[in-house]
Amino acid sequence: MTDFDAKTERLQFQTEAKQILEMMIYSVYSHREIFLRELISNASDALDKLRLEAIRNPDFAAGHEPKIRIDRDEKDRILSISDNGIGMTREEIVEFLGTIARSGTREFLERVKEQPEQNMAEMLIGRFGVGFYSSFMVADRVVLVTRRAGTSDVWRFESTGDGTYTIERADAPGAFGALPGGFGTTVELHLKPENEETGMEDYVSEWTIREIVRKYSDFVSCPIEMSVTSEKDGKTVAEDVVLNSMKAIWTRPESEVSDEEYSEFYRHLSHDTNPPLRRILFSAEGATEFRGLVFIPSKAPGDLFFRERESGISLYIKRIFIMSGCTDIVPGFLRFLHGVIDSEDLPLNISREILQNDPKLRIMRRSLVRRVFASLKKLRDENRDTFGAFWKEFGAVLKEGIVQEPDVREQILDLCLWRSTKDDGLTTLDEYISRMPEGQEGIYYLTGRDCDALRSSPHLEAFLAGGKEVLLLCDPVDDLVMPMTFEYKEKKLLSVSREGVTPSGSENTKDEASRSEREATLRPLIDAAKTVLSKVVRDVRVSDRLTSSPSCLVSDPNALSPQMERMFREMGQAVPPTKRILELNAAHPLVTKLNERLDGMEASEKDSLLGLLYDQALLAEGVVPERLQDLASGVAKLMQGYLERPGTGVTEANER
Ligand code: ADP
Ligand code: MG
Repeated sequence: MTDFDAKTERLQFQTEAKQILEMMIYSVYSHREIFLRELISNASDALDKLRLEAIRNPDFAAGHEPKIRIDRDEKDRILSISDNGIGMTREEIVEFLGTIARSGTREFLERVKEQPEQNMAEMLIGRFGVGFYSSFMVADRVVLVTRRAGTSDVWRFESTGDGTYTIERADAPGAFGALPGGFGTTVELHLKPENEETGMEDYVSEWTIREIVRKYSDFVSCPIEMSVTSEKDGKTVAEDVVLNSMKAIWTRPESEVSDEEYSEFYRHLSHDTNPPLRRILFSAEGATEFRGLVFIPSKAPGDLFFRERESGISLYIKRIFIMSGCTDIVPGFLRFLHGVIDSEDLPLNISREILQNDPKLRIMRRSLVRRVFASLKKLRDENRDTFGAFWKEFGAVLKEGIVQEPDVREQILDLCLWRSTKDDGLTTLDEYISRMPEGQEGIYYLTGRDCDALRSSPHLEAFLAGGKEVLLLCDPVDDLVMPMTFEYKEKKLLSVSREGVTPSGSENTKDEASRSEREATLRPLIDAAKTVLSKVVRDVRVSDRLTSSPSCLVSDPNALSPQMERMFREMGQAVPPTKRILELNAAHPLVTKLNERLDGMEASEKDSLLGLLYDQALLAEGVVPERLQDLASGVAKLMQGYLERPGTGVTEANER
């Protein structure tokens, strides 16, 4: 035909291609096994291309059964990967394998040269689709034999990666000759010696291959066959096995897949033996095309709150596994999900770095979040008990999103369940709002570590007396979340332990008048307490929120809550102590008597009693005072004083 017929031609790789090949050859990349993923992906692409062409030209692939084959020659350490896909012409070999046409390659290579400490192959694999060249990570000689569908010429490409390659006409077809169609491609890898140190595994071993295929290419939609030998009746017999399950379960219509199949797939992904609580199957077309299959587990795993925990979402590109634990595709507050997102149009081999900035990824992420919210909302509305069970397991994680992702804050708040003073069950904010009496300033809540202790907190007294409902928040995360959450559906969120939050609202002039009267009466006590407790309280005031307790502590609306302060300390951070306001109940006999008697007291007695007043306010809200010895000795002294009083005794005291 042409002048290169019947002779071997030696050609130069294009400069960039040569450089990339060198990187592959000298790479110490730890995941060499990905070469197989790359070759299988090329084979699978070639089959896709054939299918597309067959739409236009039905004849040429009549009766074609797409197949990928892996053959192993253990003796000579040759691994070959064949497909009966589209194949290549001589020109295509030169164009596709001899050059790298991708824009930005040269600039990338320049940049890489300046960072010699980086693993260049790894960066490269991330940056470009250089799949075919990854063969040179594991082989010192690569032979490719191919026949383009619709042509009769068979071509043989060979290279040792030394900057040149040869092309010649081949008489004998490659292994694909044995595959249906008689066209396609075989890539023959003459493997480097095994080397544990450099991560060069035994890639002709049946089990290594099985494992790699399962790991990366299980969901490739055509069979990947391999010949294996087994012992039968004392004889060694060879048989073909299919290595991949081909089950891209997320591409199948939901009506055709049984619950058991979904559950099995969930187990495969999550290693969780409990069945999933819910599955979400979705797809999108438009700016980017993708499918997803995501599961909400029924039980939280033990490591849910470990900071290093990966997400359970795997990224696939066209049925090819790209990475597990893809944190860029799912927000941290949904890290309990397990599933697969399969993109139709992201480039294979995309690196995490590039991926992070790809707008398609953001679209997928947003879509995923939306579907999960919709599913949870539906569950809440249709089956409150099951939703309650979900909430118990994952509510605390979900709430992290309130601060992490302001965009979805309102949607998360909508899903949240809270305890409340109303009854023992859990309530949503909407339900709370529906019960809110006309004119109530906002949604009241109180945070703390122990819900039962919260129920008897002095902060609640006036609210309960006034028939107001207060939410009781006792998840540690609530203390982080609530101070940064100011409103929900235009209703203010108000902590009842904050200054200025009272059941009657902040602007009540009648109350203000009586308050100044009460304040005038308690002046001696207020002044004494301000002086004695100046290290721990910012101010001392008359309270509007107490009915039965003598005193309580309230916070500045802008200050850290005591729980938050403690949490930061536990995390080893230095936090200046926030001084709170001591509120006194002007109607309480302890307060009024103390106020009257202060005058004749010795300074040490005054200090001790006021210290105890402060400590009991802490105790009442479930906080352990710092100087417990002082508290203990103070209490002992009080008891002693009481007992030493003429005519009084414990028995008598109990009877009164
Ligand atoms: P990419 O797959 O990202 O394009 P590769 O380096 O993996 O990059 O492959 C380069 C090109 O070589 C492919 O785009 C394809 O045109 C061609 N090619 C590689 N393997 C095959 C194959 N098995 N059958 C047909 N063409 C192939
Ligand atoms: Mg490829």
